[in-house]
Amino acid sequence: MKIEFKGIYGQQGVIEFLTTYVHLLREEKVDSLFLEFVGPEGVGKLTSALEFAAAVNCEGEETVPCEVCPHCVQMLHLQHPDLMLLLPDMDADKWDGMLKRLEPRLFYSPIKQIKIDEIRSVEKELWRERPYSGRYRFVIVANGENLNQYAQNAFLKTLEEPYPRTVVIFIVSKPERILPTIHSRARKVRFNAVSFKDFQQYFETLDLRVSLPLLYRITFGSIGKAKRYVYSDFIRARSIFLKALREVDIQKLLELFKSPSGGLSEGQKKPRVKSEKYIEDFIDFYGTIGRDLLYTKSYLQEFIINSDLKDEIGEFAKSISEDRIIEMLKIYRELPFWLRANVDDSVIPYALIAPIVGRTYQDVFRNY
Ligand SMILES: [Zn+2]
Repeated sequence: MKIEFKGIYGQQGVIEFLTTYVHLLREEKVDSLFLEFVGPEGVGKLTSALEFAAAVNCEGEETVPCEVCPHCVQMLHLQHPDLMLLLPDMDADKWDGMLKRLEPRLFYSPIKQIKIDEIRSVEKELWRERPYSGRYRFVIVANGENLNQYAQNAFLKTLEEPYPRTVVIFIVSKPERILPTIHSRARKVRFNAVSFKDFQQYFETLDLRVSLPLLYRITFGSIGKAKRYVYSDFIRARSIFLKALREVDIQKLLELFKSPSGGLSEGQKKPRVKSEKYIEDFIDFYGTIGRDLLYTKSYLQEFIINSDLKDEIGEFAKSISEDRIIEMLKIYRELPFWLRANVDDSVIPYALIAPIVGRTYQDVFRNY
């Protein structure tokens, strides 16, 4: 039997690990398994989890996943009765089509964090003695870091039960947000950033009108992020964001946060993807501006990430002190924690601008 994961790009180590486990599980040598897929966003962790689940349950004898047997088709289309998928951070557009097909097997939360009730529903499902139709059932948690502490604890209890023929996969791109108790229980499967060669190969056939080396650099090699950047016109929105930041233009920032193309004039390309992620994208971009400013001040421009904005960043560097840049980076690090406390998104522009107008991050976070 040959195991061939057609949807996994690069990631040799991951392929080897999963191949071993496909054999072990198909021979029923493992009862239950808890895996943590860790790695940068957009490198194919969810796709790999689904391909793995398909390969384990595939009816094929020669090449698995065969992609044509009922198990493969159902698994890869998220319709398999033994698949439970939790989406703590639902990207409405990305999942919309799938949601309609998947109910009621999917446990999702349209807000940022999944609720404990949903974890309980999964638990209830697992009390069934056997999978419905496959060899193993799969519980896949996408964006595991977006489970809040209570939900993570509830989930931990689920893991303590030895449910038979169950594979749990926790997909995580920010491991620092995962409870150590969960982290230590899982067998880690590490995903690397995609190499430039694989990245190039992936985008080869698309007419992106963007320099691929630039796209690779600003997304740190994340294919998922790169697709989002291109389709939401985020690359261009970056320069509007940077200008608004330099000019302390709160109104413009608020507009951008409503839509990444909010700063573009009428008649320009409309975004095809609109997702909550772009707020996170702007925050990440803010962090890279901070870094680029420090490099510019240290005459190390060759390390600048946002090389297409080198001139603007150079001008910005002249008007901002190093202390204030350090405050920018502190705010950048603090914001994710702050956002998890469900603070209104419209407060973010004020936080981002604070260090530029000479306030410290303590001033900003004091009241929260
Ligand atoms: Zn198959």
